[in-house]
Amino acid sequence: MRFLEHTLSHPVHAKPQSLVLSNGVSVTLIDTGLLRISPPEPANQRVLISCGIHGNETAPMEIVDHLFQEIQSGKLAVVSDVLFIIGNPPAANRAERFIDENLNRLFSGKHETSTTAEAKRASLIEQVTRTFFSGQPTRRLHYDLHTAIRGSKLDKFAVYPYLHQRKWSLTQLAFLESCGIEGVLFSNQPSGTYSYFTSNEFGAHSFTLELGKVRKFGDNDLSNFSAVFDGLKRLISGNESFQEMPRTIQTFSVVEEVIKRTEAFQLHIDDNAENFTEFCQGTLLASDVGYEYRTHCDGERFVFPISNVPCGQRAMLVVAPTSIPFTHTER
Ligand SMILES: [Zn+2]
Repeated sequence: MRFLEHTLSHPVHAKPQSLVLSNGVSVTLIDTGLLRISPPEPANQRVLISCGIHGNETAPMEIVDHLFQEIQSGKLAVVSDVLFIIGNPPAANRAERFIDENLNRLFSGKHETSTTAEAKRASLIEQVTRTFFSGQPTRRLHYDLHTAIRGSKLDKFAVYPYLHQRKWSLTQLAFLESCGIEGVLFSNQPSGTYSYFTSNEFGAHSFTLELGKVRKFGDNDLSNFSAVFDGLKRLISGNESFQEMPRTIQTFSVVEEVIKRTEAFQLHIDDNAENFTEFCQGTLLASDVGYEYRTHCDGERFVFPISNVPCGQRAMLVVAPTSIPFTHTER
């Protein structure tokens, strides 16, 4: 079975099916885009790798497809329990971010107040994730793979979901660094993202990974993703021990979450400006009725600006460099 091809040709629903590979690895298609892979011996590590939560972000779907091909051919040994998710197949078929609404705002039960296709999908993904992370594994891991609409000063970066009282993991940051991730942004509040859901509800080490710029299927140069591909293979084959400490990864904290309040909302950012572009103090970045955001100090940067969101939703994050606060970390 070609996972990506099968998913795109069954965008809404696929008949469940299971098979056992010649090396004893079992593969179960739960529904379309939801593929569980279990090693012959019981695993103590669960690895969730999701992609295509935004339908136009093709490179991550191709990465996951390649990982599954290597598993299927027996080239990649499976020691961890693995769940692959392709998030929004109908949107992927249209090469669009979503059909009705942004799937990555609907987790942690936020789908309950909506009846869109994305809301139903979020509910199903939550249910499958809950089953996957149940029991007492020694480690739960989730990497939600994305690509960004804009170019970025940091080609690859991670968003670390808000952890409440839990501590940031330094060995996870070192692992991300080994995957070619140049920076990490520490979230400062709960959200409707998939990675916040798995982090908060199951205590997983969870990250949203931004791996470069959005391109069409077939236009991705997968050699740009070799470090992350190798890192994910180490997780699946049980060869990642999470022993290293981070050395070069840049760290950022959120200074302001800019919300679009009215239709008068405007971003004062050049269309071609890249994520993590630095600004001097006092630069106007966004305005709305009775609201202006001007940078408070030199070195502030913006991430994920998008002005055509519905009113009440986030239009941009303003971030600033921060040092890793070691009192809030663990190995
Ligand atoms: Zn995305």
